[in-house]
Amino acid sequence: MIPREWVELVKDGLKNSYAPYSGVKVSALAITPDGKVYRGVNVENASLGLTVCAERVAIFNAVSNGEKRIKTIVLTSNLDKPIYPCGACLQVMNEFGVEEVIIVHGDRVIRHSFNELFPRPFSDWRKQG
Ligand SMILES: [Zn+2]
Repeated sequence: MIPREWVELVKDGLKNSYAPYSGVKVSALAITPDGKVYRGVNVENASLGLTVCAERVAIFNAVSNGEKRIKTIVLTSNLDKPIYPCGACLQVMNEFGVEEVIIVHGDRVIRHSFNELFPRPFSDWRKQG
């Protein structure tokens, strides 16, 4: 079980998604180890390549508010199947120590450990032991 508030908040975020080109609305939450919740939505652009995913917007929102650690990402979309993070977002999640990715799809809640989704992230060689 995850907090009902997370499910409601991530679904509520879909209304703020800016997706006039693809129509794919995505909403994400970045949740810190002490339970603070930061929201993000996908933001598309006419150039398409400048589009930013909801997960990264949520993480950058958290970092912009002084956070350095994100424990959980919650994600949903308006697609008719569960949406999964792209590789770029997984790499950014790795930077801030994400441990779990939770995908909300209708009434379903699908939980994945971060390592399951991204077992071999790129790491800064200077941090290797
Ligand atoms: Zn992404």
